[in-house]
Amino acid sequence: MTPAGSGKTSSPKVLALSGGIGGAKLDLGLYHVLDPWDLAIVANTGDDFEHLGLTICPDLDTIMYTLSATSDEAKGWGRKDETWACLEQLKALGGSSWFGLGDKDLAVHLYRSALLREGKSLGEITASLFARFGVKAHVLPMADQAVGTIIHTRDGRDLPFQHYFVKERCAPEITGFTYQGAQTAKPPAALLDIIRSGDLRAVIVAPSNPFVSINPILSVPGIRAALAASNIPVVAVSPLIGGAAVKGPLARMLVEMGLPATNRSIADQYKGLLSGMVIDTTDKGDADTLQDLPVLAVNTLMNSLEDRMRLAQDVLEFADRLRE
Ligand code: GDP
Repeated sequence: MTPAGSGKTSSPKVLALSGGIGGAKLDLGLYHVLDPWDLAIVANTGDDFEHLGLTICPDLDTIMYTLSATSDEAKGWGRKDETWACLEQLKALGGSSWFGLGDKDLAVHLYRSALLREGKSLGEITASLFARFGVKAHVLPMADQAVGTIIHTRDGRDLPFQHYFVKERCAPEITGFTYQGAQTAKPPAALLDIIRSGDLRAVIVAPSNPFVSINPILSVPGIRAALAASNIPVVAVSPLIGGAAVKGPLARMLVEMGLPATNRSIADQYKGLLSGMVIDTTDKGDADTLQDLPVLAVNTLMNSLEDRMRLAQDVLEFADRLRE
């Protein structure tokens, strides 16, 4: 089985479920420690949105820029060596400028949106974009159909994710989430083939935000069931260190929903799916609260490329031990 658009004939050995920022960090580590074509990534598209007539897929693009070494590492999103002429002109015209679109980044959105209008699927376009960026791994959007993460706020509003995250800078208190369109979305056939191939060594849930990155993927009918039905070790890396998110609103989201900001709360989001959990060394005491799960405590803070590779290696070896 060869996933669409790939340059390799054998089936991937490792599947990662990934959001953007935290996810792409571990994806990069895996990309470097594995033969890249042995890596498949299913990316969250619940953050995707329409802006200025363009379809923007922030997590897919963060993963693409990260794996192709074209990302702005200091900013944590967008392209390095970016220019902003278009956004500045847009501002001068009085157009909508709340979403930071760099010129190089814009080219990706123009390319993708034009192909979508021609009737190509998001999966096909993603394969072609990643190939043009020289990425040698199988990266699949969680569905070709639109699934939008909606944030429900204490003041009674239902906000699309980017509106909450970028426009309102995560200020509204949240009460819950809906993954709009998920019920009628279809899991990519290539993803189900990978899960059922019998060739997977491990499934890794990246240290992404469960509510707005991983659960949207699992909300696509068939994906969770296919993973649960397989006997592949499924290992999650916690995005919390010392009860805090490394970046982003995760800890606040937990507290606002009445849940403690702990590794236990993260594990509970993936109930019935996990074979093991990786937490940071500083949280090794949390193993007591995770008694139902094998736990590996290692350094999970990824500052350097070496950190990303070491964590990737630790997680793979942990999964191998769980399989034995
Ligand atoms: P988004 O899709 O861009 O929101 O990004 P993700 O959901 O993939 O990642 C956000 C999560 O990554 C946050 O909850 C962070 O705590 C987590 N994160 C970021 N960097 C690191 C890191 O170095 N180590 C760990 N363990 N988590 C991280």
